[in-house]
Amino acid sequence: PGSRTVALSARGLSKEFRGFRAVKDVDLDVVEGEVHALVGPNGAGKTTLFNLLTGYLKPTSGTITVHGKDITGKEPEQIAHEGVARSFQITSLFDNLTPREHLELALQGMAGGGMRFWRSDSLLRRHRGRADELLEHVGLAGLAERPAGELAYGQKRALEMALVLALDPQVMLLDEPTAGMGREDVDRTIELVRQVAAGRTVVFVDHNMHVVGSLADHVTVLMSGEVLARGTYEQVRNDERVVAAYLGE
Ligand code: ADP
Repeated sequence: PGSRTVALSARGLSKEFRGFRAVKDVDLDVVEGEVHALVGPNGAGKTTLFNLLTGYLKPTSGTITVHGKDITGKEPEQIAHEGVARSFQITSLFDNLTPREHLELALQGMAGGGMRFWRSDSLLRRHRGRADELLEHVGLAGLAERPAGELAYGQKRALEMALVLALDPQVMLLDEPTAGMGREDVDRTIELVRQVAAGRTVVFVDHNMHVVGSLADHVTVLMSGEVLARGTYEQVRNDERVVAAYLGE
């Protein structure tokens, strides 16, 4: 029997906003190497759970562990240091910086030394090379020097993906990677996430059931802040409580 190493885990996780419980007593195990989808109707608590797992929100109660290590209450940077990183939002892109500059900044930030490394030509060359590899990987090689503000929506989303890839996390959290995309960009993103998922653990939120069905090894369905169902896509898709929850949308 295959051993299941749990990469990311939550126990009894809850989050209250002034008395309103957005996430209620959630248990979650994300197994190493799997692609795990978080789905559920609007207001189910997906974003809140995502923010809890990455340290952008602190839980009211419960614990979160990464490879068995307690990270509850830690800052996003500390959690990233444990190998868990989330996709950036378009709103955090700088319109007047190019895709290559975004990646160089991210790679320099990760090198961590700040000013101490700033003048190292060999390090800058290495970052330039890595930035260009990442741009090639997400299909932006031809747009490396275009200001980000001039990119099309799907291209901005591809840049977000390159930025999270630059962090090279063991566990990658993607917040609605295909939101607002047309069919062609959706299919390209599915293919990209598949490649990215090789040798990595991926957790993603997506409303598009085609995307969930194409990518997810395991699906957790949230409803009113609680886990309503879990299993493979086929299992949860046919779960009558899940069907009822979506009919209510
Ligand atoms: P989802 O991502 O599944 O749509 P959210 O996690 O965004 O759900 O929201 C879950 C519930 O928590 C919603 O009812 C939402 O209104 C509420 N909520 C989310 N963030 C806050 C906040 N900062 N303050 C108060 N209520 C919030």
